[in-house]
Amino acid sequence: MEKPKRHEEEMIEAYPWLSVNEAVDTFLGHFDLLPAEGIDILEGLDRVLAMDIVAENDIPPLANTAMDGYAVRVADIKGASPEHPLRLHIVGDLAAGYLWQKPLAPGTAVRIMTGAPVPPGTEAVVEFEHTERQGDWVAILKEVKPMRNVREAGEDVHKGETILTKGTRLRPQEIGMLAALGYRQVQVHRQPRVAILATGDELVDVEETPGPGQIRNANSYTNAAQVLQMGGIPLLLGIAHDRVEELTAKLRQAVTQNADLILTSGGVSLGDFDIVKDVLAAEGEIHFWRVQMKPGKPAAMGQIAGIPLLGLPGNPVSAMITFELFARPAIARMQGRDDWRRQRVQAHFMNEIQRKDNRRHYLRVRLEQDGETWKAFLTGDQGSGILRSMVMADGLAIIPESWRKVEPGTVVDVMLLDR
Ligand code: AMP
Ligand code: MG
Repeated sequence: MEKPKRHEEEMIEAYPWLSVNEAVDTFLGHFDLLPAEGIDILEGLDRVLAMDIVAENDIPPLANTAMDGYAVRVADIKGASPEHPLRLHIVGDLAAGYLWQKPLAPGTAVRIMTGAPVPPGTEAVVEFEHTERQGDWVAILKEVKPMRNVREAGEDVHKGETILTKGTRLRPQEIGMLAALGYRQVQVHRQPRVAILATGDELVDVEETPGPGQIRNANSYTNAAQVLQMGGIPLLLGIAHDRVEELTAKLRQAVTQNADLILTSGGVSLGDFDIVKDVLAAEGEIHFWRVQMKPGKPAAMGQIAGIPLLGLPGNPVSAMITFELFARPAIARMQGRDDWRRQRVQAHFMNEIQRKDNRRHYLRVRLEQDGETWKAFLTGDQGSGILRSMVMADGLAIIPESWRKVEPGTVVDVMLLDR
């Protein structure tokens, strides 16, 4: 195989080494909100509304009872108590879903179930607990105030009100509200289509048995799950060998499939067969290459046919953390979601580390609660190829660029990896 042409020194000069913040800003600058599409509300969880939702009716539509009991006129029960029960004639039973149209006459009561619209003239509903039934009569054992247990029409939602606004992310309660308002379909921002391509001559797919020197492709599956976790649609393009033609063909396939973001993994370092950057430069353009982070330093960003491409490093931990910092917020931004930020806790770092570089380090830690505080323990070897260190991790401890060493007990920021 012919060795691909390299320009490493030129590349290093051409592309400044960006800080994490600069690189993230540059990257996110290339993403806009995607257009809207109509969906069924059952598909709506975590989608973002692209329309305002206005109530066309009051909810509830009519005044109704909040309790099972007797609809009464308050004058009839003034002074009622267990010692002085006041008797009313029961003129009917009313379940939710039915109407009682006759006005409530003095000295009468209607037995009424939660949710049933109250008969005209009802001033309160006395719950069963404060009554005693005696055949067709009911003894009221308690005087209640006007409007007790009566829910007014529109107490939840008033007709004409804007109840949900454009930009709202739909949670179960918003989806229930849409149903209550009669919206079966709503307009939400489209989900990003994210093309995922693994590169490397050594890779085989999950169901294959690796031959000598081969390993299974883990990154595509990690990345697909990460895309799904943020509401994107993964498009798995498989594996490209480290050959310009093959990689070029796969990237063109991503373009044909209308990807909104292309993710590659591997092939962005300084090895002889790291051709992703070259193909990116030939097919489109590079915006940056290399970020002051560990793991993840060789990450690259550019675009092909106007589609942003993020070149993740090949090592599984680097690929995952680089996705976390760059692709996750981008996938959120395209949908109008602002819930991509991971929760952070402050924890006492329980190991000791020294380092020479001035990159931002993301260390895999396991957290233990100790009274009011958290303790963070490294999950073993922090090599960027050690996927187990992620499997065992609750979070990533963020070690700022300027720190030269971390003593046990130092308070660090930990980004939690759980949802
Ligand atoms: P590279 O950046 O292509 O030099 O890859 C760095 C390391 O990550 C090498 O040890 C690769 O074998 C490994 N690697 C690359 N891609 C994948 C992948 N999709 N799944 C698992 N390991 C990978
Ligand atoms: Mg490779």
